[in-house]
Amino acid sequence: MALSFTCYASLITKSQDQLNYSKYNGVEKVKSIIKKTVIPSVSCSPVESLQKGNWVKLICGASFEDLVDIRNLSLVYTLAGVDCIDCAAEASVVNAVNEGIEAARALVPIRRPWVMISVNDDEDLHFRKAEFDPDDCPQDCTRPCEKVCPANAILQKGGVLAERCYGCGRCLPVCPYDKIRAITYVRDVTATAELLERDDVDAIEIHTSGREPSVFKELWSGLGNSTTNLKLIAVSFPDLRDSTISAMKAMYAIMEANIQCFNLWQLDGRPMSGDIGRGATRNAIAFARKLASAGDKPKGFLQLAGGTNDHTVEGLKKEGLFQMTTVHEASRYETIPSSLHSPNALIAGVAFGGYARKIVGRVLSSVHSHHGLARVEDFPEQLLQAIIESLALVGTVKCYNIQKPST
Ligand code: SF4
Ligand code: SF4
Repeated sequence: MALSFTCYASLITKSQDQLNYSKYNGVEKVKSIIKKTVIPSVSCSPVESLQKGNWVKLICGASFEDLVDIRNLSLVYTLAGVDCIDCAAEASVVNAVNEGIEAARALVPIRRPWVMISVNDDEDLHFRKAEFDPDDCPQDCTRPCEKVCPANAILQKGGVLAERCYGCGRCLPVCPYDKIRAITYVRDVTATAELLERDDVDAIEIHTSGREPSVFKELWSGLGNSTTNLKLIAVSFPDLRDSTISAMKAMYAIMEANIQCFNLWQLDGRPMSGDIGRGATRNAIAFARKLASAGDKPKGFLQLAGGTNDHTVEGLKKEGLFQMTTVHEASRYETIPSSLHSPNALIAGVAFGGYARKIVGRVLSSVHSHHGLARVEDFPEQLLQAIIESLALVGTVKCYNIQKPST
């Protein structure tokens, strides 16, 4: 059954009387509407999504640590049917993601997305924070840093709110007085290994430049047996042009003996830029085209990231890469239980970060600005708006049959 956008829209545009129902009735209304909706991915396991080519991952951000936003984003995107939620490798962040997932499952008995933590083997754009001393800023500065920040991480008249800064770097070049510094960091391998032992962490992603096998090996060795019970191991890396396949082979050779689950290559096109617009997704698609046609790459699903947005699937379709399968790919998984055998898609799916956060963040920030540290499910009107936004994006990959409400 198709999900009708109009049913959500009509609820939202109901009279104010109906919107003013009690919180309890509001949540019950949300429950009843969602229950009537059949979202195809809900019955589809994350592994099946990878194989079919309709895997969707929400990237909360390797450095984003605003716990209220993370919880609410996780709730909304769980309801939209994502397969995985990727977050910072911090216990409090992992708790917030799992709380959001369980809050969603309390509304609807939906299958649980995998929880992935992101770490780095060396300096990496995703693992940095901007910082400046507001007392050191000229009084008459027009504060372009504040305007350019996509995360609302720069406080009015203040400095950077560290938990909201995810290191996109856009504020750095716009400061006319060169007051902003970028502080980079590497996640602690021992703390990461402890997180991986938790029952509510299913996957890890290693961000790497791909150029230094020795630092990759050091991190991998440091993780020891902590990866044994994982469901997925992902490696996120940029397009290294002619060295891409050799770098993948070197990394796979390091991991191979200890991989006891699926593995995935995250093709990081243009990092942290999906919210900028249509063109941002081109690099990820070009990267995917190159790897999909490479015959000698090591085993592992391919997934796009970096600049992904609501134009990504359209671009993949133009390249003939969207949900196309080859028998050759299926044969690469001969060690996997027969129940999971099926031809694999050339491209397993898409991860959405900045764009996903932006479209739902608009709704969440209206809740927070009026109600402080709020649970989005206590505000049915906003929850439904957030669900509409997230379904429209996730639906580009999952092929939900959604009719947009007429304006
Ligand atoms: S613009 Fe980017 S790097 Fe600068 S404070 Fe905002 S999120 Fe952080
Ligand atoms: S643009 Fe530079 S000088 Fe101006 S408020 Fe931002 S950090 Fe300070």
